[in-house]
Amino acid sequence: MGGTFDPIHHGHLVAASEVQAWFDLDEVVFVPTGDPWQKSDRPVSPAEDRYLMTVIATAANPRFNVSRVDIDRRGPTYTIDTLRDLRAAMPDAELYFITGADALAEIFTWRDADELFELARFVGCTRPGYTMDAATLGSIPSDRVTMVEIPALAISSTDCRARKQRGEPVWYLVPDGVVQYLAKHDLYPSKDQQ
Ligand code: ATP
Ligand code: MG
Repeated sequence: MGGTFDPIHHGHLVAASEVQAWFDLDEVVFVPTGDPWQKSDRPVSPAEDRYLMTVIATAANPRFNVSRVDIDRRGPTYTIDTLRDLRAAMPDAELYFITGADALAEIFTWRDADELFELARFVGCTRPGYTMDAATLGSIPSDRVTMVEIPALAISSTDCRARKQRGEPVWYLVPDGVVQYLAKHDLYPSKDQQ
């Protein structure tokens, strides 16, 4: 499961858990992005912070693991590189790339889109308020993509950051350890603190 995880929240964790159960996956590997080129419009928290929050959030689940492949690779993160690296590390694994429907919709802007579908099956998680347009869905090879509806969890990292910046709580939107990590490292400080 690729993501910026700035911060990781319960939407990500529920989505991962649902997809794990749906496909009976051996493990879900969370892969925090290195330098997310699609988000160059806003500053992204340091990769090491996003990685550690992801480790904290997933530590208790024996089927959840975190990979450093993207944060240890130099330059912008492209999903094709992520999949090639994971394939090299696990040559016999059947790979499923879990992502949000919003990200899947942009798949044709991703580098080497055709090869992506050869390396992995894609699982698009739909969240409340999002419907994928039929043209995009229709242009993705149907045997390589499955849409999975995630129970209503209108949580986004954007909202979590905005709440912190407004001095509002993020308790129960993100795992307790992540709430504490944000406080300890003063991520997304409230505007009047700056
Ligand atoms: P941002 O608001 O900064 O874009 P985000 O909440 O979308 O953050 P990402 O790190 O971009 O988080 O998400 C990684 C993947 O998880 C994306 O493909 C995204 O669509 C998906 N995702 C995010 N939130 C949810 C949710 N509540 N339910 C299901 N999938 C989600
Ligand atoms: Mg997003």
